[in-house]
Amino acid sequence: MRSFKDGDTIVVEPWRAKAFPVLRDLVVNRSAFDRIIQKGGFISVDTGSAPDANIIPVPKPMAEKAMDAAACIGCGACVAACKNASAMLFVSAKISQLSLLPQGKVEASARVQKMVAQMDAEGFGNCTNTGACSAECPKEISQENIARMNREFMIAKLTSNIEV
Ligand code: SF4
Repeated sequence: MRSFKDGDTIVVEPWRAKAFPVLRDLVVNRSAFDRIIQKGGFISVDTGSAPDANIIPVPKPMAEKAMDAAACIGCGACVAACKNASAMLFVSAKISQLSLLPQGKVEASARVQKMVAQMDAEGFGNCTNTGACSAECPKEISQENIARMNREFMIAKLTSNIEV
């Protein structure tokens, strides 16, 4: 992922993401991501079969944004790059890929609250909009997803009484 010339100075920073415990050199435990997904990164309502999905009209811009968000591979590079060890790029991509589509809107309010609560419980930091995450993301996940997640979260908190 990187190339260096002879004589370049390489600064190796200490690993700062406590939510990704170091197992050994260059190996960290990313199961915190799995636990966040288990809280809501899925659709549990009956959305019918494939033909049913095909007859629900989805505006092309929305479908493309959802597909862009779905490109996230959960690598964790965003967390590693962030000075706050924030996982908001990952979590917002997983939330956006579902909430942008009609099938995912039904559970959107509960999903964003539960996934954000788990993200916080795991000890990830907050986002301060430095953009290191999206700059390092191999899938070019946009920070627009973080803005969408924050908006969904605030609306959910104001309009629902779900216990998380
Ligand atoms: S760096 Fe990009 S692809 Fe990897 S987990 Fe973060 S958002 Fe997903």
